[in-house]
Amino acid sequence: MQRSTFLRQAEEEIFDLCIIGGGATGAGCAVDAALRGLKVILVEQNDFTSSTSSKSTKLIHGGVRYLEQAVKKLSLDQFKMVKKGLKERKTLLELAPFLTRPVSLVTPVKNIFAGLYYYFGLKVYDMLSGNQSLGASKWLSKTEALKKISTLKQNFACAIMYYDGQLDDQRYGMALVQTASQLGATVLNHIKVTEFKKDSKGEITSLFAQNMLDASTLNIKAKCFINATGPFSDHVRLMANNKLKPRVRVSKGVHIILPKSIMPSTNALLIPETEDGRLVFAIPYQDNLLVGTTEDETALITEDFGPDKNEVEYILKYVNRYLTGDIQPSQVIAGFGGLRPLVQADENAATKELVRDHIIETDKASKLISVLGGKWTTYRLMAKDTIDICEQQLNNNITPCNTDTQVLYGGKIPTAQLHENIKTIVSFSEVIINHIVNKYGDNAVAIAQLAAGSEKLCNKIIENAPYTYAELHYVLENEMACTVKDVVNGRFGTQLLNWKLTLNLIQPVGNYMATYFGWTALQQEENINNYEAELQKMINASINN
Ligand code: FAD
Repeated sequence: MQRSTFLRQAEEEIFDLCIIGGGATGAGCAVDAALRGLKVILVEQNDFTSSTSSKSTKLIHGGVRYLEQAVKKLSLDQFKMVKKGLKERKTLLELAPFLTRPVSLVTPVKNIFAGLYYYFGLKVYDMLSGNQSLGASKWLSKTEALKKISTLKQNFACAIMYYDGQLDDQRYGMALVQTASQLGATVLNHIKVTEFKKDSKGEITSLFAQNMLDASTLNIKAKCFINATGPFSDHVRLMANNKLKPRVRVSKGVHIILPKSIMPSTNALLIPETEDGRLVFAIPYQDNLLVGTTEDETALITEDFGPDKNEVEYILKYVNRYLTGDIQPSQVIAGFGGLRPLVQADENAATKELVRDHIIETDKASKLISVLGGKWTTYRLMAKDTIDICEQQLNNNITPCNTDTQVLYGGKIPTAQLHENIKTIVSFSEVIINHIVNKYGDNAVAIAQLAAGSEKLCNKIIENAPYTYAELHYVLENEMACTVKDVVNGRFGTQLLNWKLTLNLIQPVGNYMATYFGWTALQQEENINNYEAELQKMINASINN
């Protein structure tokens, strides 16, 4: 992906379709449209997948909570939504096997009656998944459950185990962007849409956008415009037509990261009940334990944010109710918050009761197409529906959507074979090989080749972490990482998992980037200091101060 080429294309060409927003929804739309042969540009104001799409619980799921609501309300729509999610679960696992895996979740319950309630509920979940099942749910005795999660407190009667999918959401988003680019789409991060230009009928003909890296302005022309800005959707809708009513409610959810030793298991724990009716998950994720989430209605937050003290206390209260070890806030090694974009169903509904399915709205006046709501699991279905509408607007016949068989960038070679291939190229440790294969799929071979060709690139950036200069060089060359934050947060994913490690990486990564890009000493200092200050501010506003 060459930024300079894409910037030139953005200025010079007329696109069929301009997508605003580089999260799961926008990137999914870009893949679908490019696969149908449309000329596509995607613009993202920050880095690709830097907003909600890297802050999820990382589950690919039909939604056990939605199933419960479907049963309680006898809502056919909710049943259908769960069924759709369950079908997609299998598809997503197949599209990017290196970034996804099935995960088993253990749900301890206080008594046999509660056990029966969850057991039969999860059997319905199995039934709805039909031949897309990832494994049958099971009743576990107390002893069996303790074998699955040895650090469970012994205050439960039995447990139910069921299956869902897990994804590396941040890298999955990057794989979508790269797939779109490979299919011919122009993709640009750090480009913020600021204004629409319209014709005499009020229809959008082009947009103005600011290059956030150098403050220059772009004028992008297209025949159709898609607003895929997630929690920011209303802002862009109103930019196109200030008579529209807001339709998206935003709810804040935070996760914390704890050391894996707190729950050394490959199984996840689902805490089925909190006093305020939420679910809390503790999920093994990339050698850590990911725990969350909270849910609170909020105003739009534009900066990265972590969990505050109350949110950490809330999550730890439930962790400590179910796990041994009396876990303290000081054991939290990182945390992140995201904003759920929820489509307004009923003005008086609590956010957790809003239907999380998507709505696609075409504004009659400006012709802006907005994709509202949805979840990671259904990004592909949202994209299909959106691009169908886009083709209608372009007066095209609707081309069949083939994204269900389009294996994503990096996903062609099985991971076991990649391990073997890499060992023949370079003498990386198992940890490093695992790390690059699980993040870059078959592109890990290119990283290994870089390392094999240079002693400097073979080296680790810091001790005790698997990042090498070869990986750093690769993301600068191929993944349009422009800032230190793009690398450490966006490509390595370190900020989501370990704040201390992130702080340690900033300086050496910045130094290497300065040489690579030919930054001045001032640019180098600014890049390093800006990210350091931003992260430190987030940490200070959070629990670790
Ligand atoms: P975003 O990822 O927010 O992307 C929108 C992008 O638009 C942003 O990157 C933003 O910078 C950009 N943008 C905004 N304005 C402009 C502009 N003017 N110009 C250019 N770009 C702009 N789903 C699941 O399936 N499974 C889960 O386990 C799950 N867990 C979740 C947990 C939490 C706490 C949250 C908050 C959500 C969770 N979700 C989950 C839902 C899922 O993460 C979201 O539905 C999905 O990521 C939304 O993607 P998006 O692309 O619509 O939004």
